[in-house]
Amino acid sequence: PRPIEQLVAAQEETAEARRSTKVKDAVIHWFKMDLRTTDNRALWEASEKAAQAGVPLICIYMVSPKDFEAHLTAPVRVDFMLRTLEVLKRDLAALHIPLYVETVEKRREVPERVLDFMQEWGASHLFANIEYEVDELRREAKMIRMCAGRGLTMEVFHDTCIVPPGALATGAGKQYAVYSPWYRSWVAHVHANPDLLSTFEQPTANLPEARDKVAALFDGEIPDVPHNKRLSEEDTKRFRAIWPAGEREAIDRLEKFCEEKVAQYTKRRNFPSDPATSNISVHLAAGTLSARMAVRTARDRNKTKKLDAGVEGIQTWISEVAWRDFYKHVLVNWPYICMNKPFKPEYSNIEWSYNAAHFDAWCTGRTGFPIVDAAMRQVRSMGWMHNRCRMIVASFLAKDLLVDWRMGEKFFMEHLIDGDFASNNGGWGFSASTGVDPQPYFRIFNPLLQSEKFDVDGDYIRKYVPELRDVKGKAVHDPYGRGAGPQARKAGYPEPIVVHKDSRERTLAAYKAGLDRD
Ligand code: FAD
Repeated sequence: PRPIEQLVAAQEETAEARRSTKVKDAVIHWFKMDLRTTDNRALWEASEKAAQAGVPLICIYMVSPKDFEAHLTAPVRVDFMLRTLEVLKRDLAALHIPLYVETVEKRREVPERVLDFMQEWGASHLFANIEYEVDELRREAKMIRMCAGRGLTMEVFHDTCIVPPGALATGAGKQYAVYSPWYRSWVAHVHANPDLLSTFEQPTANLPEARDKVAALFDGEIPDVPHNKRLSEEDTKRFRAIWPAGEREAIDRLEKFCEEKVAQYTKRRNFPSDPATSNISVHLAAGTLSARMAVRTARDRNKTKKLDAGVEGIQTWISEVAWRDFYKHVLVNWPYICMNKPFKPEYSNIEWSYNAAHFDAWCTGRTGFPIVDAAMRQVRSMGWMHNRCRMIVASFLAKDLLVDWRMGEKFFMEHLIDGDFASNNGGWGFSASTGVDPQPYFRIFNPLLQSEKFDVDGDYIRKYVPELRDVKGKAVHDPYGRGAGPQARKAGYPEPIVVHKDSRERTLAAYKAGLDRD
């Protein structure tokens, strides 16, 4: 059975035990990738349970450095989450709810530690939102059974997607593997179930006497982790200035975007020098913002309640947020993509080049292709990269350098502040043509044409590649091919490491041979 089925089986097996468990001294919400108080389904359910029984609500978060390592979590992202926890702890304390944060050294010890904590505080009920990666689904299934074995109850909820995975199927009862029909079905499902966009209230404050019972849990600092040591002081300062933490910041960002930019989104979203996108991916990844609230806020600015009507920019933006749902549905339905396998098995036999010098040039932004180098330097400088550029650099790695796309996928996770397994894997699969609903393999981006089309005046390149700052006009897109070679060389900018036309031929042959081998 797929991991989601294992979870459902655990829920079914324990249904009776869970129904009959009486609330004891406390109810717990376990935060994971849902670091917010507003519109958090499991938190709200936990709060209701605690308030009805008149017992305190306790919140917990388990910091697991080994988990960060296993998930390749970027240091910039870890730092963002730890800062978010500080804000969350303050916000919850204002509601007299403690947030207890503990470091657990080994990943596999987390379930046992959570259950021990429940018993230490006499808590009978544990609430959490579901995470859809394979290990997490299996862990939750195991914990539901472990709880039942100890006379405790664990309740889990769909929260991170707008439409829960598994809710949509084709007419033939199959799961969708193509975005467009999936999206039509997604829109129809939301229209038919408008509650999917209803947001949840903040948790009810603990009463003073309930607060007193858990007073000791308000003490304690948010622990530091070795990951943070990998960030220089200068990087830490810069990242913190670019990415303030916390749910208030997330909501402000969303509202400002909807007020000032969403209407123009369709026209402007593809130009990396134009700050025309929402920059909320960091918040959706950490859970400081719910996808529900994002779509709802945009929809409420429309003249219609329909998601596929009204202002064009709003429609397009909602359809982009839906891609996030799509990739999570894909992950749940085809969990083998978590195991380093391409969605399309027929693409397993491509002979990739493992040219370390090429990969290093790509990572460090020294390929001699200015648009690629600007983008790779943007991710180092901001922990974030514009979507158009993510597609350009991914295509360049897989199809110009013929380097295994999984090396790029890993690099992205290690550097992105918004690193999210499903979206990242989906984006790489799309660009390398090995994933769900991908670009056909013979469609290969020409980096020069992409550069001229989307960085028309070269502003993005000049911003991130200082060696080319003084190169005038169109030469900035290809200094060595357009007469600015001596200037670029003098400034220390490298020559192109491959010839696009030749790489293209090599890649077409390698993909074709891989498919023939299947
Ligand atoms: P906006 O344009 O304002 O879009 C709003 C939201 O919609 C985004 O925050 C995001 O949640 C969602 N979204 C938009 N485009 C996509 C998409 N193509 N796929 C999935 N969701 C989308 N996004 C991540 O959140 N984490 C990743 O690790 C990630 N890796 C990617 C890797 C590659 C190779 C590619 C091509 C795309 C990747 N994306 C990833 C998708 C996309 O690039 C980012 O979500 C987007 O750039 C974030 O900026 P924004 O919040 O300003 O987006």
